Amino acid sequence: MAKHQFQTEVNQLLNLMIHSLYSNKEIFLRELISNASDALDKLHYLKLTDEKYKGLDQPEKIVIAYDEEKKTLRVSDTGIGMNDEEMVENLGTIAKSGTKSFIESLTGDAQKDSHLIGQFGVGFYSAFMVAHKVEVLSRKPLEEKAWRWVSDGSGEYEIEEAEKEGYGTEITLHLREEAAEFASEWRIKSIVEKYSNHIPFPIYLLNDKGEEEQINKASALWRLSKSELKEEDYKEFYKQISHDSEDPLLWVHTRAEGTLEYYTLFYVPKKAPIDLFRVDYQPGVKLYVKRVFITDEERELLPTYLRFVRGIIDAEDLPLNVSREILQENVILSKIKKASVKKILGELKKLMEKDREAYEGFFAEMGKALKEGIYSDFENKETLLDLMLFKSSERDGWVSFKEYKERMKEGQEKIYYLMGEDENLLRHSPLLEKYKAEGIEVLLFADEVDAIVMPGVSEYDGTPLENIANVEDEGEVDEKTKEKYAPLLAAMKAELGDAVKEIRLTKRLKDSPAVVVFDKNDPDLQMQQILRQMGQEVPEPTPILEINPDHEIFSRLLLVDDESQTREVAHVVFDAAKMAAGLEVKDVADFNARLNRLIARAIGQA
Ligand code: ADP
Ligand code: MG
Repeated sequence: MAKHQFQTEVNQLLNLMIHSLYSNKEIFLRELISNASDALDKLHYLKLTDEKYKGLDQPEKIVIAYDEEKKTLRVSDTGIGMNDEEMVENLGTIAKSGTKSFIESLTGDAQKDSHLIGQFGVGFYSAFMVAHKVEVLSRKPLEEKAWRWVSDGSGEYEIEEAEKEGYGTEITLHLREEAAEFASEWRIKSIVEKYSNHIPFPIYLLNDKGEEEQINKASALWRLSKSELKEEDYKEFYKQISHDSEDPLLWVHTRAEGTLEYYTLFYVPKKAPIDLFRVDYQPGVKLYVKRVFITDEERELLPTYLRFVRGIIDAEDLPLNVSREILQENVILSKIKKASVKKILGELKKLMEKDREAYEGFFAEMGKALKEGIYSDFENKETLLDLMLFKSSERDGWVSFKEYKERMKEGQEKIYYLMGEDENLLRHSPLLEKYKAEGIEVLLFADEVDAIVMPGVSEYDGTPLENIANVEDEGEVDEKTKEKYAPLLAAMKAELGDAVKEIRLTKRLKDSPAVVVFDKNDPDLQMQQILRQMGQEVPEPTPILEINPDHEIFSRLLLVDDESQTREVAHVVFDAAKMAAGLEVKDVADFNARLNRLIARAIGQA
């Protein structure tokens, strides 16, 4: 008998489980059945594609047995099984980096964490929520030896050689006192019906007379016709494949016949999957061929901007042993993908028109991912643009391009926007002043991805887009004013030196004295940030300082013609404008000192 230590992350997870921050204990059965089903899937595939496995003849099934008195529950399958090494690998460590970092991200706040765990799908270790001891007896087909894995979930487990008739896996739970209720016929039946009805293999319950009674439908739900399915069936199935505890937002069920035959069932969740913005996110769509599970590791079954979608693709016309490596180049799959994207986007559009509130909820969760499609999916760009929602200078809620256009002022020829990393800063940007005064709406692009995506959008439905930070309006300042200000601007430029690229007058400000903008040819703030995050060295472009000639500060400065004041004002105005743009002011002490001197001077002078 060999003793082993659980990996640290496993211990952390087990601790969480056992100390029962999870209110919904019954899902342990769903997890064990889901693992049994995966194991059956894997063997089924081998039997169809690998000569060595062709002779295996144990029926493919899952059997649940229980003993009320002994308080035990057993889940057996005739699947792929595990040997000792695989037990160490699969039941003693957490391999997926996503799972690891998920555990690290847990807060320690029981309520919050239990919700997260619910979203995540807890797997095998959830058995310890209800059991004080778990035994796994397993034998692989084509292998002689069987192995027993035992643990009480407190830091260690043991593995020893054992006897087992037939191949497959048998998991026995010794239930905790307070979880004894799970060793009962009605409880097991109701949990299976709730979570595992549409597992593609039959699940039997072993009764007192030793008879096996089938307790699930065992149908590939996605192959049933819509008329046979109730809303509840769809929702249940969603929970089964997604591990989500909430109902899905919507689903699309398709059966395609004709030249290409396939079935798809896609779900859009209400909440963003927690790994939505992780590079190692788990794909949500499973590929089947003729009902046979092929893979749930393929990320390109749908475009990556739809990675929040959960569901099934079951293709009739692919060979079973389609190499997993070349899936991406497969013509049939790419046709299915294309049609599926249209369906899903179409369904989202319907939702947007039918139930705006629900759509806004969706967009708040998944909109950033969806936006990526604007530059990656040229074919659906128009539809995607229709699906976008933005914040706007004129209202609190969300606005679509279409709504913006409907509200455009007479004579307005462009869709105006302003881009930045912080919605609040944008709302108060001096650049908006002129537009606000004229009642012209400006869209606020405050998502990081906007900086990548939006520059590629030059128009919507025939109307050009314009970044108001790039509008140069110096030409609107009359020559006389320019002449009058030339010496002042020159003095300020001399003082600020290389810190500013240029100082010029602007007509775009109403209340603010100044604003910083960037040269059209320099990367703007958002782009700079993104490039840096991608690990690139980005020299900080030098800002341009634009001055409002109608502002009191400058009209007075002209009058007093005091060189030392001009120098102070140049710095303070420049720094304040940088702050308003979300730029860092490097020497805050210097800024404060100058500001204080100016205030002291001003007091009593007005
Ligand atoms: P996941 O199912 O997400 O991989 P789990 O914690 O549920 O994570 O299971 C961990 C691993 O243990 C599985 O990936 C599988 O390799 C193995 N395993 C669990 N149950 C079985 C089983 N009944 N038969 C064969 N392997 C199993
Ligand atoms: Mg699992």
